[in-house]
Amino acid sequence: MNNTNEMLVEFKSAALNESFARMVVAAFITSTNPTLEEVSDVKTAVSEAVTNSIIHGYESKDGVIKIKAKIEGRSIYIEIIDEGKGIENVEKAMEPLFTSKPEEERSGMGFSFMEAFMDKLVVESTYGKGTIVKMWKEIGVLNHHYE
Ligand code: ATP
Ligand code: MG
Repeated sequence: MNNTNEMLVEFKSAALNESFARMVVAAFITSTNPTLEEVSDVKTAVSEAVTNSIIHGYESKDGVIKIKAKIEGRSIYIEIIDEGKGIENVEKAMEPLFTSKPEEERSGMGFSFMEAFMDKLVVESTYGKGTIVKMWKEIGVLNHHYE
């Protein structure tokens, strides 16, 4: 079966849309026949990235968040794009427990979760311009992260 597909959604940077983003991506990846755990992993990664765009990228002000996704067979590729403030030091931001908002009880684990739940994570950001989070996951492959 030829299972290739693409989608693009765009929505307001409102907390209400975190669940919308999770659901839209979950629905989109159904054709890869994922397990419930795989769906849950992808949803978690997407909501961590979307929450980051809302809280850090746009600092709770109005902005537009885009999600692009592609499926080829059982390979999933997802981009979460914002045009918010961007990240000054991506390498540092991706370290476990690093957060620029400790006073808001953030734990600095968002990127670590995305890395754990997906096969590959790439973060591209231009300070003052915005951020693109790219994630890959192959459905139906044993996960060796916890060996
Ligand atoms: P948690 O996700 O555990 O609630 P956190 O959001 O601070 O805490 P991460 O998700 O790992 O932790 O992100 C680390 C840091 O990277 C953030 O504190 C923030 O400074 C920066 N960051 C992440 N995403 C963005 C974004 N889209 N725009 C601007 N800065 C970002
Ligand atoms: Mg976060």
